[in-house]
Amino acid sequence: MSRPLIARVDGAALAHNLAVARRAAPHSKILAVIKANGYGHGLVRVARALRAADGFAVLSIEEAALLRGEGYTHPIVLLEGFFHPDELPEIARLRLRPVIHRQDQAEILARARLEHKVDVFLKVDTGMHRLGLAPKRLPDALAALRASPHVGGITLMTHFARADEAGIGIDEPLACFREATQGMKLPVSVANSATVLRHPAAHGDWVRPGIMLYGASPFADQSGADLGLLPAMTLESTLIATRLVRKGEGVGYGAAFVADRDMKVGVVACGYADGYPRHAGTGTPIVVQGQRTRTLGRVSMDMLFADLSNVPTAHVGSPVTLWGADPPAEQVAAAAGTIAYELFTALAPRVPVEET
Ligand SMILES: *Cc1c(COP(=O)(O)O)cnc(C)c1O
Repeated sequence: MSRPLIARVDGAALAHNLAVARRAAPHSKILAVIKANGYGHGLVRVARALRAADGFAVLSIEEAALLRGEGYTHPIVLLEGFFHPDELPEIARLRLRPVIHRQDQAEILARARLEHKVDVFLKVDTGMHRLGLAPKRLPDALAALRASPHVGGITLMTHFARADEAGIGIDEPLACFREATQGMKLPVSVANSATVLRHPAAHGDWVRPGIMLYGASPFADQSGADLGLLPAMTLESTLIATRLVRKGEGVGYGAAFVADRDMKVGVVACGYADGYPRHAGTGTPIVVQGQRTRTLGRVSMDMLFADLSNVPTAHVGSPVTLWGADPPAEQVAAAAGTIAYELFTALAPRVPVEET
C-alpha cells in the first residue's frame, strides 16, 4: 500500500461545467482556459474532458505542442503571445494563435517570414494595466498586422480586473473597449468566468472561462454549487494516526493549538509539500468519515491535524476529504487567505492524480 493521499479528477464534472458555460454564453464560442497544467488538473486529461470546447487557451508553446501531439486540431491561443521572435516559425507550424499585446510584437510578426498565416488575438488594456496596448495605440498595431501577408484572422481582446466584484463589474472597461475598437468590425473576446456568469451583454464572439470549468466559483459571495458547477478535483487521504490529547496539551509545531479539553485528534497524510496551504490555521474545514470537522494547529510538510471530537468512531484508515464537494476548495482557500485557483495550481507533482 502506498501513501493514501490522492487527487481524483472527474472528467464528467469538467464536461458538465463546460455545458454550464455553454448555456450561460449560448451565442459565443468557448475558448477553454487550460493554462497552468489545466489549473493543476492535468493538461491532457482536461483537454480530453473538454474536447467539446471550440478552442483552448494555454501559456506556452510546450503546452500547445503537447495538445497538437495528442491530435487536437482546435484553435489554440497563447495567452502571453510569443516571448521571442524565434518562436514564430513553431507558432505558425503548429497553427497557434498568439496574443499580441505590445506594438513591437505586431511589427515583429508583420515582418516575419512564415510558412503559414498566423491568426492573432490583439489585446487592449482597458484598465487592468497588465498586458495590452493602450487604447490610442490600437489603430497603429492593427494597421501593421493588417498590412502583413503573414497575419490571418484578427480577434480583438481585453481582460477585466474586477469582473468578479459586485458593484464594480465591467461597465467602465467595457465602454473603454467598445470605444477603442469602434468600427473595426472584428471578432472580440473579453469574458473570463466571472463575465460569462454575470455579464451576458459582454460575451462577444469568444468567451474565455477558466476557473468555472474546474467547478469553483470566481465570486466571493456565491459558491460553485450555487452556480450549478461540479467540483472537478477531490483531494482525498486517510487518517494515519489518532490520539487523545489532554486539556492544556499542544498539538503540532509551535503548539499553535492547545486543547481546551480532553479531545481526540487525527493525523492526516497531507501537508504543505502536497500543496495544502500552510496558512490554513485552526478551524479550516475538513471532512473525516463523511463528517465535517476542522483542522487544528499548524500544517506540517507531510501531515496535518483534524479535530475528531464530533467523529468519535474515526480510526486509522478513516477517509478524509481535504477539498472537493465538501469542503469546497473555495472555503479551504478562504481560510488560508487565498483563492481556489492557487490551491489547484499548487497541487504538488508528488500527489498522484487519478481520473474518475
Ligand atoms: C486565466 C485567464 C482567463 C480565465 O480566467 P478565469 O477567472 O479563470 O475564468 C481568461 N482570460 C485570460 C487572459 C486569462 O489569463
